[in-house]
Amino acid sequence: MQILDGKALSQKIEKRIISEVIELKAQMGYTPGLAVVLVGQDPASQAYVSMKKKACDRAGFYSVTHEMPSDISQEAIENTIIMMNKNPNIDGILVQLPLPPQIDTTKILELVDPTKDVDGFHPYNVGRLVTNLDGFVPCTPLGVMELLKEYEIDVKGKNCVVVGASNIVGKPMASLLLNADATVEICHIMTDDLKRHTLNADIVLVGVGVINLIKEDMIKNGAIIIDIGINRAPNGKLVGDVDFENVSKKCSYITPVPGGVGPMTIAMLLSNSLKAATINARKRGSK
Ligand code: NAD
Repeated sequence: MQILDGKALSQKIEKRIISEVIELKAQMGYTPGLAVVLVGQDPASQAYVSMKKKACDRAGFYSVTHEMPSDISQEAIENTIIMMNKNPNIDGILVQLPLPPQIDTTKILELVDPTKDVDGFHPYNVGRLVTNLDGFVPCTPLGVMELLKEYEIDVKGKNCVVVGASNIVGKPMASLLLNADATVEICHIMTDDLKRHTLNADIVLVGVGVINLIKEDMIKNGAIIIDIGINRAPNGKLVGDVDFENVSKKCSYITPVPGGVGPMTIAMLLSNSLKAATINARKRGSK
């Protein structure tokens, strides 16, 4: 069994991004800018935003976080997005999800300028992903594809079972795999007999949020296991959706939690933001 080391790869990608940012600044006089909208006090969201902010600082980005109380109005968030859409110093806009229940999340995500949509959640970019056109791809599934590429795992013709069908993880994961010529099945909460599906998989990719959902008797010998889940175990430790201890004895490759897909998500946010900045810098031809 081999570990798919997302931490090591993310550090390698970050190094590359740092030098590209230095080059962009030197050649075009351009600094990539990322704006984050954080609503409420959810500790997990605060932790993710703090990690993203630190990564931006390391990469030499300009970044700004708009922190808002949980009872904020729809209009106030919309006005912030409109302002950032117009702000020439901002290349990427990220709205940390989930938003509070009084907020229409779809409307907020649709308001983000698709050219600044570094999370890839705008329907324009979703459509481009599904039709295999260039655009912004959600960071977590994009990070998984990078990790597979790094370890020279070709998904072409492989049976891939994606467990979890959310708009931010499962669905874009399935689209990326399909675009790379894999045979893809998507399972979710209503799937009858999950094991029947996962047992047939060459690659199982699970992003659900249920501790120990995938057990050793649910995978075939030598399967590749991508654990996208992030859960807080009763003992306070971060764990994924896979029973790592037992599944790791049977599979060929596995991502650990932490240190697998999580750091790749942050690296892909930097990568998407740099992509947006590079396009803008060229458009502006600035110095
Ligand atoms: P979500 O709640 O939006 O979606 C969960 C999906 O899992 C749904 O499609 C649901 O049908 C399915 N599901 C739930 N219980 C199931 C079960 N028992 N069997 C099969 N399918 C089931 O969640 P999300 O935002 O997609 O996040 C999923 C997990 O991925 C969470 O643990 C989250 O923390 C993690 N996550 C990790 C990263 C990362 O960077 N590694 C990024 C985003 C989300």
